[in-house]
Amino acid sequence: METVTLTFAWLCKIVESDWPGIRVRLYLDSDQKSFKKFRQVAYAVRDRSGLRVAVSPRLESMPKSVITGVMAHELGHIVDFAVAQEGLKQSYGRLPETPERRADAIAERLFGLKISYDKYDLETTGPGTRPRPKHLGL
Ligand SMILES: [Zn+2]
Repeated sequence: METVTLTFAWLCKIVESDWPGIRVRLYLDSDQKSFKKFRQVAYAVRDRSGLRVAVSPRLESMPKSVITGVMAHELGHIVDFAVAQEGLKQSYGRLPETPERRADAIAERLFGLKISYDKYDLETTGPGTRPRPKHLGL
């Protein structure tokens, strides 16, 4: 999980410096039932134990651009969960109304990356379709 762990640490540093007080943990979810489709390799959680990004062990074998795209997207959800609407609006201006496109928009502004979707519909910082295609749910 080395690339996944390093990418998470790099992006988390940015989250924590822009939004002091947010603490996110990385969680390895080895249960195959959590990731039914090929494109499902990570998800963001907010519950009683705090904020975390859960990842499938499969993520580590994917291209670096996908690891970065997926992580950035999930951390976009985390910031959306943790920061009040007003704060987000002040920092990032108008954001999409729907959660998945919001996560991408927050990630792009926060990290200075472009999030696209590759031929497997995985988030990537490499070439692909942008914004998120409708058939993935917005
Ligand atoms: Zn998402």
